[in-house]
Amino acid sequence: MPASLGYAALSPKAPLGPFRFERREPGPHDVQIEIHYCGVCHSDLHQVNEEWGTATFPMVPGHEIVGRVVKVGAHVKGFKPGDLAGVGCMVDSCRSCPSCGEGLEQYCDKGFVGTYGSKQKDGTPTYGGYSNNIVVDEAFTLRISPKLNPAAVAPLLCAGITTWSPLRHWKVSKGQKIGIVGLGGLGHMGVKFAHSFGARVVLFTTSQAKAEDARRLGADEVVVSRNKDEMKKHARSFDFILDTVSAPHDINALLGLVKRDGAMTLLGVPPADPSLKVGNLIFARRQLGGSLIGGIRETQEMLDYCAEHGIVSDIEMIPMHKINEAYERMLKSDVKYRFVIDLATLKP
Ligand code: NAP
Ligand code: ZN
Ligand code: ZN
Repeated sequence: MPASLGYAALSPKAPLGPFRFERREPGPHDVQIEIHYCGVCHSDLHQVNEEWGTATFPMVPGHEIVGRVVKVGAHVKGFKPGDLAGVGCMVDSCRSCPSCGEGLEQYCDKGFVGTYGSKQKDGTPTYGGYSNNIVVDEAFTLRISPKLNPAAVAPLLCAGITTWSPLRHWKVSKGQKIGIVGLGGLGHMGVKFAHSFGARVVLFTTSQAKAEDARRLGADEVVVSRNKDEMKKHARSFDFILDTVSAPHDINALLGLVKRDGAMTLLGVPPADPSLKVGNLIFARRQLGGSLIGGIRETQEMLDYCAEHGIVSDIEMIPMHKINEAYERMLKSDVKYRFVIDLATLKP
């Protein structure tokens, strides 16, 4: 069995530190990947801190994985040793329910197998990408174009697909006014994609200092969401708002900015649920919904689109041992705009 070295939290809220474990022996459909880069998602931090309910420890987080294939099983068709490969939030699903049949494995009726903190079909725990290798079924492995910087591609595997999927689902396009709330890992990809689809993009932020970057990333306008007067100017004007905020905040103030028959989709999963003023929906026939990452097929479509259009994440590379510091900065919204771990710094 391949030996692995990673960084794990041994118990809830514990700082991460070195952890040795084993991956499963690659089966006929498996790809073994040497991990080069892994993005740091706010979901990693929520789960290490057990903010979403009981979690499994030791936890090796990380679901924005890019590396190189080192070994493939006898029946693997799409990958060979030496290829670049990516792994996102899922490593398996039931593959037989209606959602899996439609390529929407993230909504699998039986629950998808998460890249970490889940159980594989043999009952053993999954460990994520803050580690030097991973073994994954080729059906859940993504092809990565050599055209792009692989470190800056890593965040596309979660932050990218999570914003791409709802923007596509709601057919965001030219002529529409789109709001993106929060300029973190997800938010900055939301701005890039909405801009690339031709929409007029307004970024809502609590960090005035991010305004200039937001414009560089593709926002046409920046609104400081704590300024009530600035917010008022946009009442009932948005076709669609994508909310990526990781902490409790007022969703009613944002809903009021959506047009009649417009929609707002929540992506952030703060530790406490928001309160909703129902009148905000009823008096303008607005829709409020949520969206979870994206399916494997659409993740590949997103990666191919990014390769074609030269879209990657804006990253700050960190060595593995700086992960606890990165978590602290993330909690202060001090992210520009995704931390990516350089796994070459993980030495035995
Ligand atoms: P992140 O990089 O930490 O960005 C979150 C941003 O939210 C911050 O940079 C900040 O932007 C804003 N923010 C933070 N606290 C706020 C507050 N109190 N009020 C208003 N805005 C605040 O996090 P991320 O990795 O993008 O993840 C965002 C959320 O999405 C997390 O809850 C994560 O778990 C969730 N997520 C969901 C999915 C899904 O499938 N639905 C997938 C991945 C992640 P400004 O500085 O611009 O205000
Ligand atoms: Zn994520
Ligand atoms: Zn299924």
